Amino acid sequence: MIETSPIARAETIVDEALARYAGNIALACSFGGPSGMVLLDMIAKRDASVPVYFLDTGLLFDETYALVDRVRERYGIEPIAVRPELTVDGQNARYGEALWARNSDACCALRKVEPQQRFLANYDAWITGIRRDQSASRTNVGILSRDDTTGLAKIAPLADWTSNDIWSYVLAHDVPYNPLNDRGYPSLGCTHCTRAIAPGEDPRAGRWSGTDKLECGLHASFSALGANGTS
Ligand code: SF4
Repeated sequence: MIETSPIARAETIVDEALARYAGNIALACSFGGPSGMVLLDMIAKRDASVPVYFLDTGLLFDETYALVDRVRERYGIEPIAVRPELTVDGQNARYGEALWARNSDACCALRKVEPQQRFLANYDAWITGIRRDQSASRTNVGILSRDDTTGLAKIAPLADWTSNDIWSYVLAHDVPYNPLNDRGYPSLGCTHCTRAIAPGEDPRAGRWSGTDKLECGLHASFSALGANGTS
């Protein structure tokens, strides 16, 4: 069996996904962690017409919005801001102030999960930078999985990459990334629900810190396809 590099494997997966779902596939990029930026680099260089979207909760860090601007200039693409039905003020008015502090699952459902489902209703597949080494809750991430309710395919070409693989690619290809990654924020979401981590902490320990919440719900209802989740 011929050994292939992580980059070669991921590029093959990306190529096959773009061919199989041509015109009906989008890249989810949070503009927070570096994994999405690696995929954005790979995909934009292959086909700049592939939609790249981010969930603009209205509560992202200034550095995240600035990175969207940098990508627009660097790659000549227009990232799509997928927004909730309600503004932050509208949510506060309907559900009370600071829903994220009282019921983060409800807040994520309103500001992330529903907007993504609404956006992806126009597609057959989406690509994500989720990786198995990011946290204990992600150790079983499959490279190809399927939404049990909608039938949408989810492709994670970097599922078996390590953090070192990611940063090697970022540096070798001069990929733009969020400067907060260098300041203790390896994983970034909304300002209210993200803190810097201390050395040695789990990379996602800064997300919803102090609660038992691990995920926002975007990766909740998928099951692996194939015997090992890789085909
Ligand atoms: S991460 Fe926090 S603020 Fe953002 S949608 Fe989820 S609960 Fe709301």
